[in-house]
Amino acid sequence: MINETPRVRFAPSPTGYLHVGGLRTALYNYLFAKKNNGTFVLRIEDTDRNRYVPGAVENLIAALEWCGVTYDEGPHKDGGYGPYIQSERLEIYQSLCKELVEKKKAYYCFCTPERLDALKVEQEKAGQQKKYDKHCIHLSDAEVADRLAAGERYVIRMSILDGQSIEFDDIVRGHISFQSDTLDDQVLLKGDGYPTYHLANVIDDHQMKITHVIRGEEWLPSTPKHVLLYQAFGWEIPIFSHLPLLLNPDRSKLSKRQGDVAVEDYKSKGFLPEAMVNFVALLGWTAGDDKEFYQLNELVQAFSLERVNKSGAVFDLNKLTWLNAEHLRKKSSPELAVLLAKSLQDSDLPVKEFTTEFLVSVIDAMRERVEFIHEVWKNGSYFFQRPAAYDAAVKTKRITEKSKKLMEEYIAELQQNCDGSKESFEHALHVVAEKNEVKNAELIHPLRLALSGVGGGPGVYDIAVILGKEESIERINIFNETL
Ligand code: GLU
Repeated sequence: MINETPRVRFAPSPTGYLHVGGLRTALYNYLFAKKNNGTFVLRIEDTDRNRYVPGAVENLIAALEWCGVTYDEGPHKDGGYGPYIQSERLEIYQSLCKELVEKKKAYYCFCTPERLDALKVEQEKAGQQKKYDKHCIHLSDAEVADRLAAGERYVIRMSILDGQSIEFDDIVRGHISFQSDTLDDQVLLKGDGYPTYHLANVIDDHQMKITHVIRGEEWLPSTPKHVLLYQAFGWEIPIFSHLPLLLNPDRSKLSKRQGDVAVEDYKSKGFLPEAMVNFVALLGWTAGDDKEFYQLNELVQAFSLERVNKSGAVFDLNKLTWLNAEHLRKKSSPELAVLLAKSLQDSDLPVKEFTTEFLVSVIDAMRERVEFIHEVWKNGSYFFQRPAAYDAAVKTKRITEKSKKLMEEYIAELQQNCDGSKESFEHALHVVAEKNEVKNAELIHPLRLALSGVGGGPGVYDIAVILGKEESIERINIFNETL
C-alpha cells in the first residue's frame, strides 16, 4: 500500500467538450483529493493525433472551472511534475520504451499493415483469438539494428508471456484477476513516435507520483496491461478504483443519441453548476443515507471511494432538473438576481438591463415557481415588457360584460387611494367590489390578465407592486381598449 498523501489525476483525452462521465471521474478524483489533503492533477492525454481538436484543452479547463472542480496541478499550474500535456512529453516515452526493449520486456516490430491484416483474416478463419503472433520477437539484435539503420518503419510492442495470472485489488470492484493469454502484445510506441495510451498513462502515473488511479470502468480491461508495464519497469503499482458505467434510462450505455452528454450542453440549457456537480456525484456513490442535496464542500466531507457502487448508474434527467430547482431555491434573492441579470442577456426581450432592486423583487415573486433561472423571464416576461397579447381562453372564461366598467372604477380608485403598496392595491379592489356588490374574483381575473396577459403566476397584487402604480394603471387602460 502506498502511504503518502494521495496524488490523483483526471486524464482526459481532449475531444472538444467535457463528457458528463468525465466530469464524474474528475469530481471523484477531486473529492478524494480534498477529503484526504491530497493533490488533484489534470493531465491531458492527447497522443492520438487523429483525434486532435483545436481549443479542446481550454474548453475542458473552462468546463471544469465552471463546475468548481479545480485542479491543483496541470496545464498553467505547474507543480513540478510537468509537462502535463502528453504531446509535450514524447521524449520521455521514447527513451523509457527503449529501456524496456533493452530489458527484453518489449521488442521492435517491423510487420507491415498488410501482414497484420492477413494475419487477422487467417486467425478469424481458424476461429482463433485475433492477436499479434510475436513474429518479430525472434529477430536478432543485429537484424533489428540493420533494419533500424535502413530506416524501416517500426513499432515497439510489449512482450507479454502466456500463462501468467495478473492480479490486482480494486477499491470498487474488489480482487481482480486476468489471464495473460487473453492479452495481445500491445503496441507501446507507434510508427509516428507517439506512445499509445497504455505506455504514456503508466509512465506519467509513475512520474507524476500518482497514488490512486480513479477512472471509468471502460478502462478496466486496460489495467492488466498497465500492471504488467509497472512490473516490467520495476515500479510500484498505484491503487485502482474503477467507477461504474453511466447508463441511459433504458440501461444501455450512456450515449449522445439519447440525450446530451456534454457538460457544456447542460450549461447552455441553464443548469446550475452546483446542480450538475451534485447530480454527477450521485451517479455511482451515496453516503449510505437518504441525503441527496449536497453542496460541493459537503460532498468533500461525505465522499469515500469505499461507498462507490459497482453497478451501472442511470442518468436521470428528471432528477437533475429537480436538483436544479433545489439549488436554485437555496440561493438568496440577490444571488439569483445576479444570475437573472446574466440570463436576461440571452433573452429576446427588447430591454435587458434592469436595476438590481427590480430584479430582486421579480425573483422574490417567481423563485418558488421556477426550476431554471431563465424561466423567470420566460414565464414572467410581463415583468420586463407589456403583454403583447391576452390569453384568449382565459379571456373568454373570465371576462364578463361588467369587467370593463369594474376596471375603470378600479383605475379611478387606484388614482385616488393607492400609494403603490400591496395593501393599497388590494384595498382599492375590495372597495370597488363592494360598491358593485360583486366578488373580488370578478376584478382579480381581469386585473391579472391586464397586467400579465396570462391566467397564472404570482399573486396579482405582488405583480402590481413590482410594476408600480403608473404602469399598472397604464396596462389596465390598454387592456380595457380590447374589451
Ligand atoms: N485518456 C483516458 C481517458 O480519456 C484516461 C483513462 C485513465 O484515466 O487512465 O479517459
